[in-house]
Amino acid sequence: MSLYIVSTPIGNLEDISLRALRILKEVDLIACEDTRRTRKLLTYYNIHTPLTSYYQHNRVRKTQVLSKLLKEGKKIALVSDAGTPGISDPGFLIIDRAISEGFEVVPVPGPSALITAIVVSGLPTNGFVFLGFLPRKKGKIRKELEKAGLLGKTVVFYESPFRIQNTLDIVHEVLGNCRVVVARELTKKFEEIIRGNLEDVITELKGRKIKGELVIMTF
Ligand code: SAM
Repeated sequence: MSLYIVSTPIGNLEDISLRALRILKEVDLIACEDTRRTRKLLTYYNIHTPLTSYYQHNRVRKTQVLSKLLKEGKKIALVSDAGTPGISDPGFLIIDRAISEGFEVVPVPGPSALITAIVVSGLPTNGFVFLGFLPRKKGKIRKELEKAGLLGKTVVFYESPFRIQNTLDIVHEVLGNCRVVVARELTKKFEEIIRGNLEDVITELKGRKIKGELVIMTF
């Protein structure tokens, strides 16, 4: 009858709390985005709790199934592929449903790419705007950036390595030659943090094939 929102590492398997490990051992079931990925984590920590998939394309059907199990008195942990469930991933739906049905929703905090990135950015952190993943269409990206830019705060978003160059060009059109930080593959072997003004960063990235996971921050 409880849903535990358990944060897991964003790369380095050692970045997990003792409490998260205990909860993952104790619950009846772990709902995760990619069972192969979560199994790696569980194997590393010798945890044998059953897994079920809960991801973007089955989230509506799976929310019904998980809600039924909660009604039967089961304890379920929700984890995402990386970081904190519910931040720019399908977690929101089951969390909202569990709350509206009166189940206990328990946070088990830990890493999130957003917080990990912003604290090493060197950009102001006393207030920031998180945009999640930007929309795909240029006009919509521009609108989001214009609105966020008006607040005068650090703007943070997630981006795919295939779109970053194009997106940084749009950021330049909207926000000019602002400060930018690209945080890539945080906590992993090829971790890289590129800081500078936007024009220099665009030039630096132009000739490169960008790989891995990225958080972009501007001010
Ligand atoms: N729930 C997750 C969290 O708490 O950060 C985010 C899930 S979202 C689907 C995945 C995105 O997070 C990636 O596309 C990337 O933008 C960012 N991300 C995840 N791991 C990362 C890492 N190790 N380094 C940089 N960005 C990362």
